[in-house]
Amino acid sequence: MGRGRASNAYGSTKATIEEMLENLYTSDKEWTISLLRYFNPVGAHETGLIGENPNGIPNNLMPYIQKVAKGEIKELSVFGNDYNTKDGTGVRDYIHVTDLAVGHTKALEKILTPGVYIHNLGTGKGYSVLDIIKTFEKVNNVKIPYKIAPRRPGDLAEFYADPTKAKKELDWEAKRDIEDMCRDSWNFIKNV
Ligand code: UDP
Repeated sequence: MGRGRASNAYGSTKATIEEMLENLYTSDKEWTISLLRYFNPVGAHETGLIGENPNGIPNNLMPYIQKVAKGEIKELSVFGNDYNTKDGTGVRDYIHVTDLAVGHTKALEKILTPGVYIHNLGTGKGYSVLDIIKTFEKVNNVKIPYKIAPRRPGDLAEFYADPTKAKKELDWEAKRDIEDMCRDSWNFIKNV
């Protein structure tokens, strides 16, 4: 699988770490290394008991929406509505954290011989910022005030996974949809 060029500094750190682990395997072929490429993890455990509540002003979309829904932040800034996407806002592959956790257990079960294995953990479906706002409002019956703001430097218009290799080799695919992700995100955060 080609690594290509990372499109921003964060992506480049991830590519470097993958390369270091590949070098480790090259130097000692007893290693069994699984590189799981996460797309955009969101949501919380469906019980509402385990989730993420970052301190301060979040950088990522879902934690920001959660704080706006709670009334802790007045409004969301949508970073650009002039991308070449279906509604002009950025498109990402959001994946429920529980599906991501299951992906790890599948990798541990299936990868049994030394080597370096690379898999994408995403749903393969892209949703725009406006899709997420609308879905969050609909499933949770809350309002997310927002304004259109300038693009954020380093952002891509669209980024989503091809998860077919993970399905084939790990017998894994994401089962939870965007409504589950929005519902579980709110279910956790509304009580903390
Ligand atoms: N985004 C946004 N407002 C925010 C945070 C994010 O419009 O306050 C957009 C961002 O431009 C991107 C998408 O939401 O299109 C996902 O951003 P996030 O930071 O969550 O993930 P990443 O950029 O790493 O894919």
